[in-house]
Amino acid sequence: MNGVKTETVVSLAPEMRTLDYPVVFQFAFVTLVALIGVPLFGYLYDYTWLDWTLFGVLYVITGLGITVGYHRLISHRSFESHRWLKFALLIAGGWALQNTAIKWSADHVRHHARVDQEADPYNAMRGFWFSHVGWLFVSDPYADDKYEAQFRKDPLLLWQERYYVPIVLSGFAIPLLAGFLHGGWREAIGCFLLAGVGRMFLVLNSTFCINSVCHLWGDQPHSQANSSRDSWWVSLVTFGEGYHNYHHAYQRDYRNGPMWYNFDPSKWLIFAAAQLGLASNLQRATVKN
Ligand SMILES: [Zn+2]
Ligand SMILES: [Zn+2]
Repeated sequence: MNGVKTETVVSLAPEMRTLDYPVVFQFAFVTLVALIGVPLFGYLYDYTWLDWTLFGVLYVITGLGITVGYHRLISHRSFESHRWLKFALLIAGGWALQNTAIKWSADHVRHHARVDQEADPYNAMRGFWFSHVGWLFVSDPYADDKYEAQFRKDPLLLWQERYYVPIVLSGFAIPLLAGFLHGGWREAIGCFLLAGVGRMFLVLNSTFCINSVCHLWGDQPHSQANSSRDSWWVSLVTFGEGYHNYHHAYQRDYRNGPMWYNFDPSKWLIFAAAQLGLASNLQRATVKN
């Protein structure tokens, strides 16, 4: 759109995409538990301070695992990280149930390379629901191993892929165990529901908003070359990722909100890590006016 030259891509008919049943069942389960099980348990038994605290702490940790780890560090190499920080970010990102860092980043690099085209994995031209979550439920005829190749050279990313399932399970085990130690089985279930499944559902949907809302509604102060838009309120729930128009224009910048007053906790964390010697080589774009 907007007069951008697009590469000619062999287009497959939408009906050639087949439903991915394991993913559909997985998301149906998380959604039903989050929307019915979580409020029902709260109504019947109430949640404790521990449930709410772990809910908030795990929302922040897993959200930053995606934004700072999967997105800015792995996908865009917008800074270099100390090995232990990278390890922690890969664990935190894994707890968000958004696939391995290799798969996530390969999809994301293709999103930038093919934005608004059929080969864009979360192509916003196909509407809100496809770009929000529908793309996960169907096979992707444009998946291409070449986007994964650069990430497969990194031993730490291969390690995360190998242990992805135990990492995901440990993300559920923490609230379950913490709740059990604090108040027995009833609190174990409450903590698992609120800080495990409910938190995961919210982090998933806030991340999805970057692909849907931030390509449909908002301002385009930096570029009209594609559908990306800045949305300040999406930044509030995604640790700064809502400044998506800036991000598409200057994708290697470690900041998504470049101004000091932009709410971008991910850039603040990267900057703080650099002050502590845990991050280096922070990339900053020279913005054209
Ligand atoms: Zn985008
Ligand atoms: Zn990006």
